[in-house]
Amino acid sequence: MAGAIWCVVEDDRKGTPKKVMSEVLGEAARLGGPVEAVWLTDKATDDGLKQLGAWGATKVWLLENAGLAPYRGETWVPPFAELVAKESPKAVLAPVTSRLRELMARLAAKLGVGLAADTVALAMNGDKLVATRPIYAGKLLSKVTWAKQPWLATLRPNVFKPAEAQAGKAASVERVSATIPSPQMKLVERREEASTGLPELTEAEIVISGGRGMKGPENYVILEEMGGVIGAAVGASRAAVDAGWRPHRFQIGQTGRTISPKLYLGFGVSGAIQHLAGMRTSKVIVAVNKDPEAPIFKIADYGIVADLFEVVPELTKEFKRLLEK
Ligand SMILES: Cc1cc2nc3c(=O)[nH]c(=O)nc-3n(C[C@H](O)[C@H](O)[C@H](O)COP(=O)(O)OP(=O)(O)OC[C@H]3O[C@@H](n4cnc5c(N)ncnc54)[C@H](O)[C@@H]3O)c2cc1C
Repeated sequence: MAGAIWCVVEDDRKGTPKKVMSEVLGEAARLGGPVEAVWLTDKATDDGLKQLGAWGATKVWLLENAGLAPYRGETWVPPFAELVAKESPKAVLAPVTSRLRELMARLAAKLGVGLAADTVALAMNGDKLVATRPIYAGKLLSKVTWAKQPWLATLRPNVFKPAEAQAGKAASVERVSATIPSPQMKLVERREEASTGLPELTEAEIVISGGRGMKGPENYVILEEMGGVIGAAVGASRAAVDAGWRPHRFQIGQTGRTISPKLYLGFGVSGAIQHLAGMRTSKVIVAVNKDPEAPIFKIADYGIVADLFEVVPELTKEFKRLLEK
């Protein structure tokens, strides 16, 4: 409906909205709604639609079309922009994920409106929306507003309070038929990365990060073991990624993923400004480094000056003991 707050759905590519959508839908409700979801996918499931309703969407605009997989900006943006222009939502919010951050930037350009990227707070000031977003690699927070509607924003995961799921609350579903443009790019090869079995970096409540101090790719197994015990994702610094020890999708920082977990555990990470840019909004920061002057200790809530190869197995043992109680 005109004047609604739209929440763009990020899903698991199998028809289920990701947990981060509870945060986006929860925030849209706090801003006063009306809360609606817009889902572009090649495959939606009934359970997925129910989930969006339980998280507070009153309506789901469903654009389901085989031509939308895999994600490509040039196939998603035209039908999406057309729908926005036709239905006139006052705001379009999306979680920061690799594809939606690109989609939203392209959508903003197509509609000729502003985008507040990577916001960490949103508030209504009278009839204006005000977004807070980190700038200068997280050193400053800036407040921005929009010259005209729709207000487009991406929301940093794990920052906004999730909506409580209300079982039985259902959303109406409006199926949208649209012409999907032919892609200009052709996929020549598609490789699916094997799952580590650990949570995804940007969604995890606990993130373990290994830096150059890990000394080599073979040593990440001790971090993965700890991750398995406490249900944490395992990420890395750029130094580790550049050395080829971890794929780029695990990189935390300015040129990698931005994370905001409840707990960040850094091992052998010095705390360069570009790394901090991706994790400084973590709720609790723990650093283990053998150099007492390492900059990461300046922002850490807890620090251990020690050799990580001694600390990690001890911590894992202790976590196991505590969790088995
Ligand atoms: C444009 C630009 C973008 C960048 N983007 C990113 C980014 O997105 N993410 C990112 O991480 N970096 C980024 N960087 C790189 C950044 O500047 C640092 O070089 C990088 O973060 C360093 O990684 P590190 O902390 O693992 O390595 P180092 O700085 O080499 O630190 C390794 C640390 O491990 C400690 N250590 C060594 N052995 C042990 C041990 N046995 N036990 C305990 N501690 C030990 C050392 O004391 C040291 O503090 C970027 C740089 C530029 C210029």
